Amino acid sequence: MNKINWNFDNTYFNLSSSFKEDINPVPVKNPELIILNKRLASSLNLDFSLISNKELSKIFSGNTLPEGSNSIAQAYAGHQFGHFTMLGDGRAVLIGEHTTKSNKKYDIQFKGSGKTAFSRNGDGRAALGPMLREYIISEAMHNLNIPTTRSLAVVKTGENVIRETSLQGAILTRVALSHIRVGTFQYIAARKKKDELELLLNYVIQRHYPDIQNSKNKPLDLLKVILEKQVDLVVNWMRVGFIHGVMNTDNMSISGETIDYGPCAFMDNYDPKTVFSSIDQMGRYAYCNQPVITKWNLSRFAECLIPLIDKDQNKSIELATEIIDSFEKKYEEKWLNMMRDKLGLIGEDDKDKLLILDLLTWMHQKKLDYTNTFCLLMNFEIEKKEIFEDNIFLDWKKRWQERLKINKNTPEKYIKLMRSVNPIVIPRNHKVEEVLNEANRDNIKPLVKLLEILSNPYSEQKNIIDYQMPSYTKEKYQTFCGT
Ligand code: AMP
Ligand code: MG
Repeated sequence: MNKINWNFDNTYFNLSSSFKEDINPVPVKNPELIILNKRLASSLNLDFSLISNKELSKIFSGNTLPEGSNSIAQAYAGHQFGHFTMLGDGRAVLIGEHTTKSNKKYDIQFKGSGKTAFSRNGDGRAALGPMLREYIISEAMHNLNIPTTRSLAVVKTGENVIRETSLQGAILTRVALSHIRVGTFQYIAARKKKDELELLLNYVIQRHYPDIQNSKNKPLDLLKVILEKQVDLVVNWMRVGFIHGVMNTDNMSISGETIDYGPCAFMDNYDPKTVFSSIDQMGRYAYCNQPVITKWNLSRFAECLIPLIDKDQNKSIELATEIIDSFEKKYEEKWLNMMRDKLGLIGEDDKDKLLILDLLTWMHQKKLDYTNTFCLLMNFEIEKKEIFEDNIFLDWKKRWQERLKINKNTPEKYIKLMRSVNPIVIPRNHKVEEVLNEANRDNIKPLVKLLEILSNPYSEQKNIIDYQMPSYTKEKYQTFCGT
């Protein structure tokens, strides 16, 4: 009587006992379903339509586990703000890999599901606000066409969690291509058992990158593809003004998805040094540092692979370094092309970089909203501002319009291109806070409305101005980790 169509495989469970702890979610007192992502469910071939709310609450709290699941907490390590630490799923369990009709595998993970062997001093739980926040932002990222883990459901646990104050507890069901991180490789590499490292390498290649299965040097090719994936990912973040906030190596997914929505937020006025996270005092994970940190994290990944690349360690290091050193050139090229798209430019011109940087510099000086300035360039005026009459901007605009004329470009072409990459609406920080406050007071409607608007970020929508404007409060927006 499997009405839901769960179809679990447990390849990670079967991999090796050193990679995980076998553990069930710790049952909760009084689970209550808050939100279920029906669109995502249906794309996973899951059908919850015949299941009562009470039953759904039990399912998404982990109080009842689906048949065929073998739940585990995954072991991993990671550099947190530059310092190496042993970590692991301290408040999450993976219940298995659900396989869709088209034979795609997705990890189904409960976050906030109780203590594990890796909880250290944590309580293994999560609060409602942050879990709903992850739900909103991850779904927004998906709809912005950015690779990301997804959110299938949030339940309240009926238990309180103690943070600075007492908060309502919750569990998020996270869906991911996998939860294997750079930190997973770091954990295995630290154990110094070459056979385990090889096992992980082959598993990752088989699961995520089968194209390199027969390559001459698998670890080296894996490093290459993951570097490409991460360059693409960070360029996408830069495109929409997304600031991850906690780019520790344990929060960098091997599959190339954005993972771990803790203190992330979207930049409003353009300032490359923007940081929202309260604990990021040094700005390590500021907007403009994201590519630098991506490279730093990839270097940590490369270090793990050294024993597998070549028998001669020096040769290994030389080969890996060569790949890591290709980062800047690749990033620069992809970033430039992304910015060309944002401006509707076709082909390449020597002066493109200057044209782009001049606009960004002016936006920075005038503290202009990143998203809405690109909207204005696409003829969507969201904010009326005299600043757009300023001579510097008008001169820039002339240069831009001259550039738009080359390479057989047409207004239809460039507007189409711009509209495919410049969102008209993003999750505005104050809006996210507003709907979370309401959800904490048992009113989920504003959150559902926000999700609906964010499900179509590139399309014109009526009466959404309130969702498009940045907040004008003087107070600096701050986000928090591990809540
Ligand atoms: P994060 O900052 O969310 O990437 O988490 C870093 C590490 O801390 C991970 O190993 C988490 O599982 C763990 N962690 C975060 N919050 C908790 C908590 N409340 N209880 C146990 N472990 C936690
Ligand atoms: Mg994490």
